[in-house]
Amino acid sequence: MKAGTLYSSTNLKAPLSSFREALLKGLAPDGGLYMPVNLPVFSQDELEKFSSLSYPELASHIIGSITGDEIGIEELNEICNSIYTFGIPLERVEDRHYIMRLDQGPTASFKDFAALLMGRLMQYFLGKEKRKITILTATSGDTGSAVANAFKGLENINAVILYPANEVTGLQRKQMTTLGGNIRVIEIDGKFDDCQQLVKTAFMDPSLAGFNLSSANSINIGRLLPQSVYYFFAWSRLKISSEDRCIFSVPSGNFGNLAGGIMARMMGLPVKRFVIATNENNEVPLFLQNDEYRPISPSINCISSAMNVGHPSNLARIIAMYGGRMDEKGTIHSMPDMKALKHDFFATSISDPDTRTTISEFYSKHSLMLEPHGAVAWAGLQEALDKNPEYRNELCFALETAHPAKFREEIKVILNIEPELPETLRKAESQSEEFLSLENNYDLLRRLIIQNY
Ligand SMILES: *Cc1c(COP(=O)(O)O)cnc(C)c1O
Repeated sequence: MKAGTLYSSTNLKAPLSSFREALLKGLAPDGGLYMPVNLPVFSQDELEKFSSLSYPELASHIIGSITGDEIGIEELNEICNSIYTFGIPLERVEDRHYIMRLDQGPTASFKDFAALLMGRLMQYFLGKEKRKITILTATSGDTGSAVANAFKGLENINAVILYPANEVTGLQRKQMTTLGGNIRVIEIDGKFDDCQQLVKTAFMDPSLAGFNLSSANSINIGRLLPQSVYYFFAWSRLKISSEDRCIFSVPSGNFGNLAGGIMARMMGLPVKRFVIATNENNEVPLFLQNDEYRPISPSINCISSAMNVGHPSNLARIIAMYGGRMDEKGTIHSMPDMKALKHDFFATSISDPDTRTTISEFYSKHSLMLEPHGAVAWAGLQEALDKNPEYRNELCFALETAHPAKFREEIKVILNIEPELPETLRKAESQSEEFLSLENNYDLLRRLIIQNY
């Protein structure tokens, strides 16, 4: 079996790493983000065969081609079969334009695809080495529940999840606090940024160096690779030929989802263009327009709350893929190929009023329900089609990244209908909760880690 892809750092000052090392470390030692340096490229013949594979088979094939001999193929097959047990509905809207529903996983968010695989791959390496780690993560909602569900019951991993007391919905909280076992959930009397700061302080604290802390947010390459698979899947189900070049509209916040799509294209997926659809946090669309990058701080609160990001952590990766270099703070040291970026991406920002109008018009016209993030993607796609009428006949997908029931209150105001909770969320509603409340004080978190891990 062939050697796996190696990983370099976006800061270019770290040695090349294996997948195992990049996955378990999270951040490269020079503070940069890990990037695959030699992704496999699938031939047209191979792409042709993808249409006969199930989702777990496709995931195992693509991830296995990337990780090579680092992971046993039988173990990888087993992992993919046991986690990818839910469907990916491709709903036809009109012409060859589809909604790709990534909302059928255990927490009804697209983040399940990556979190589930990342957890199991971490466990794979740690189990072999008989080593334990503690995942420490701050969440504003969706990441925490996806991570908590994905890591639940994994023997060699404990998870500590911090969330801001007044910034997550009751349903989001219950998805984390009803699990118990190796999942510890802490409510912080503060804002999301405070939680993030506590986590960062813990990672840099030398007195916790022996505690094997690691992170599960989208700086981890293990959160990106699994997100390339559903792009191949959607295309393989609906293409006319292996040269049928399609368009994906991706609702973007930290740009991890899009980074997965770009990697899929690097591996040979025929993509004509990506639509980058943001909410009012429009720093990336403006960057592509003006060749000048200005983070938005503080970020703007929009109803598509998982995309309220004023400085996306994966932008450094996308800039690196286009030959530029950007550091953690957002300073660009060398410009990417802007001409290529503008050619490959159509970027637009959708306001909250336009998001609401899209949800309501889409429902009356197509009898299908969108939640705010999917609505941003659909509105972005419509704008791209209006500006490029030649795309009308192309195969297009707008990504629906969460289930409408996760945004019940908002949907009820807009449509006057209460979306029904999927089975998995209904279960969490009725179970008993367990969580700790802490003041926003680093010393308390530090003591808790020392006493428990
Ligand atoms: C996280 C999230 C996004 C944004 O994805 P990124 O990878 O951060 O760009 C979009 N929609 C939903 C529902 C999310 O939870």
